[in-house]
Amino acid sequence: MQIRTITAYPLRAELRKPFRFSQWSYDHRATTLVAVETADGLRGWGEAYGPASTVAEAVRCFFAPLLAGRDPLDHETLWHFMFARSLDYGQKGVMVAAISAIDIALWDIKARYAGLPLYRMLGGSHTEFIPGYATGFYFDEDNPRSLARKFTTEAERYRARNFRAMKLKVGLGVAIDAELTATVRNAAGTGVRVMIDANHAYDALGAIALGRRVEPYDVAWFEEPVSPLDLDGYVEVRRALRIPIAGGEAEYTRFGFDTLFRRRAVDYAQPDICACGGITEAMKIATLASVAGVHVTPHVWGSAVGQAAAVHFYAARPSHPGSLVPEDKLIECDQTENPLRTEIASEAVRIDDGRVVVPQKPGLGIEIDPAALERFSTGSRM
Ligand code: MG
Repeated sequence: MQIRTITAYPLRAELRKPFRFSQWSYDHRATTLVAVETADGLRGWGEAYGPASTVAEAVRCFFAPLLAGRDPLDHETLWHFMFARSLDYGQKGVMVAAISAIDIALWDIKARYAGLPLYRMLGGSHTEFIPGYATGFYFDEDNPRSLARKFTTEAERYRARNFRAMKLKVGLGVAIDAELTATVRNAAGTGVRVMIDANHAYDALGAIALGRRVEPYDVAWFEEPVSPLDLDGYVEVRRALRIPIAGGEAEYTRFGFDTLFRRRAVDYAQPDICACGGITEAMKIATLASVAGVHVTPHVWGSAVGQAAAVHFYAARPSHPGSLVPEDKLIECDQTENPLRTEIASEAVRIDDGRVVVPQKPGLGIEIDPAALERFSTGSRM
């Protein structure tokens, strides 16, 4: 089998209603899908996190020529080849995201070739369903009182859809964040886990101050309390609080995560499959996490392609720690507006009764809708 073409599709979808989090405002969603096609007509899909046109250029100009004519079933070899060729200037960020997209597409091809769902190529699934957690509670009002009303309604909506966990955005300042966390905790009701995510809006002192205020609300994890560059800050926050600490959506490869684990900076590692180096690298990160005694729960913020890749990866991972009654593995279910998640695939990952259904069709188990791909493409294919 030979790789014939690698095509990058930078995509963009305008939003009906912009929303904000602690760092910036979204008025559109963007991502890069990558299609790898073989000479005998098999096609696999991958996705890269990050600035769409920039990542697409990295795929088109740098990686695609390297892989032309190579056998897609040699995906482990190809991963190391791509990483070695870009190591001197691409250890993190855009270049690794581009590798991630190609890697996911190669796994999709391999599984389609075998006629099996991708998780079986990873050694099998521990489950048919993975409990989802609803990611939402973004900011669209300046007035915290209005936000409290919005957050209450939102929590009730997720509860009605049987999500057993939900994650709210924080980063508006300790007092407001504590009030909004209490609001969601109350509205979510008993038996529903609540997490908070600062998207690194705090320094260590601020994060500890917020953590102490929300400790009574049974917060299941505090995500990205401080900058991903401030590992000392992570360690300080983790030691000071009784709330588990999560992070890693801005980290890359096993080398980056190994540092997080050795420093004991997180309780939950959150690799993004479309950024961290793809499925190949995510499996290695998960192995390191298991050695370090750290939970893994993938960051999922992309299109239907990245979502499916995360589900297959996570289905193949055991619960941690092993137990007769293990803690639920929780997978992120982005509930914000994103047509690239909800419209790009004619057949997408299903969420049923608050649980993500592990796809059973060959490969990623989803199908890209050509008309939607055309509609969201930002220009010429790359
Ligand atoms: Mg996050």
